[in-house]
Amino acid sequence: MPVSVVNIAYLVASVLFIMGLKGLTHPRTAVRGNLLGAMGMLLAIVVTLWDQRIISFEIILIGLVVGSAIGAIFAVKIQMTAMPQMVALFNGFGGGASVFVAGAALIELIIAGVHPQTEFTIATGASGIIGAVTFWGSLVAFAKLQGVMTEKSIVLPGQQFLKVVLGIVSVGLAVWLVLNPELTNTYWILVGVASALGILLVIPIGGADMPVVIALLNSYSGLAAAATGFVLGNNVLIIAGSLVGASGVILTNIMCKAMNRSLTNVLFGIMEPGESAQTSDEVYEGKIKATSADEIAMLFDGARRVVIVPGYGMAVAQAQHAVRDLANLLESKGIEVEFAIHPVAGRMPGHMNVLLAEANVEYDKLKEMDEINPTFQQTDVAIVIGANDVVNPVAREDSNSPIAGMPILDVDKARYVVVIKRSLSPGFAGIPNPLFAKDNTLMFFNDGKKAIVELIEAIKES
Ligand code: NDP
Repeated sequence: MPVSVVNIAYLVASVLFIMGLKGLTHPRTAVRGNLLGAMGMLLAIVVTLWDQRIISFEIILIGLVVGSAIGAIFAVKIQMTAMPQMVALFNGFGGGASVFVAGAALIELIIAGVHPQTEFTIATGASGIIGAVTFWGSLVAFAKLQGVMTEKSIVLPGQQFLKVVLGIVSVGLAVWLVLNPELTNTYWILVGVASALGILLVIPIGGADMPVVIALLNSYSGLAAAATGFVLGNNVLIIAGSLVGASGVILTNIMCKAMNRSLTNVLFGIMEPGESAQTSDEVYEGKIKATSADEIAMLFDGARRVVIVPGYGMAVAQAQHAVRDLANLLESKGIEVEFAIHPVAGRMPGHMNVLLAEANVEYDKLKEMDEINPTFQQTDVAIVIGANDVVNPVAREDSNSPIAGMPILDVDKARYVVVIKRSLSPGFAGIPNPLFAKDNTLMFFNDGKKAIVELIEAIKES
């Protein structure tokens, strides 16, 4: 295939990636954006493989069918709630692939008796370090989110020192590799050291900070791919990797802001529960007011404004369609209804937006935290469905709590707060929530979907 044709195809693929990312910035255009990005990737893969001439068209086709089938099975089987684990795994696979591709390219050159250029070995070293850190870091993130290992921060004695040493040794080995590229074993030792670094970087990070870590590992996987692009001299891989790297950094920054954490705090596992953390008994004993659908229905008599606050439990209960029906019903009674969206509600960035968009809730009704918080004081009823950490006032009040300083939705300022969840179990951060014990809070203990369906019936009958 002529180089010009390959480069034009790569250019088209890159434009598709950029248009895809642009589309992903808004729920209305997100599906199209996703499709454009996928088309770009398809074009890039087919052209690259075809251009190599080492594999026949039939093999490419078989690869596409097998790969698409695996992707389709993942897409259908994986629950929405397990998305972060899947993203973590995919990031890890990206990092792992970069390690092996860069290593194979180096070995191929050495076997062919070619002395690699300095740029080549620098890129190979970078692929090895970033790829291995991404692979092992992502596996630990996966294990934490999947509950295979404890979500709590694990801090070993001298861990920070060890991380610095491993970082320095990895870079030292990369320099050694640049100076002596024919010693290919150096590359695999470098990968081993960077793997240990990847594990040590993620184990001290507590469960509540996982969203930030996943965004950061996503960025690393992009950087590893871009470095591998330099190793292979493949422009589209450099562009795609850079786009992933840059967008991952932007997302990391947004997530850090949403949790009021600096990246250093997150990475060094600072801010685990301190001494002053209260037990559930201390927070809840004798203060919880359980309610029923009929009682809640009465709160809407004369109400003018209702804010619905969805969280992870809405995703678990798959209650988004019922929630939309409730909002429509309340609106038909002349009540203003809006949705309060916390940036880290659920288990992945944009989780609530995706679910509510799927249920055809108008996008204009979804209000971000900064916009909706000042309005809670004028809200008659705040309905919290399956949200916990993102409405926990402890974030404002207890500097020792694991979510200290995280901006929260100020639902407690509403006249009444109705919390729908099945029990008093904690949320992701594992801490009690004093909101449930407040004077103006009523607890409706039920599955999210069942609760909303019962509530709709009760309102219709009242
Ligand atoms: P939380 O995890 O704080 O709380 C979810 C609540 O949902 C639980 O307390 C649970 O209580 C309830 N619940 C579970 N199943 C159901 C059900 N079927 N019906 C009704 N309720 C149910 O969720 P939030 O959305 O408030 O906060 C998100 C947390 O996750 C934050 O700590 C965030 O940092 C973290 N996180 C966010 C990610 C992201 O990217 N958005 C990624 C990873 C973590 P009960 O069992 O009593 O029903």
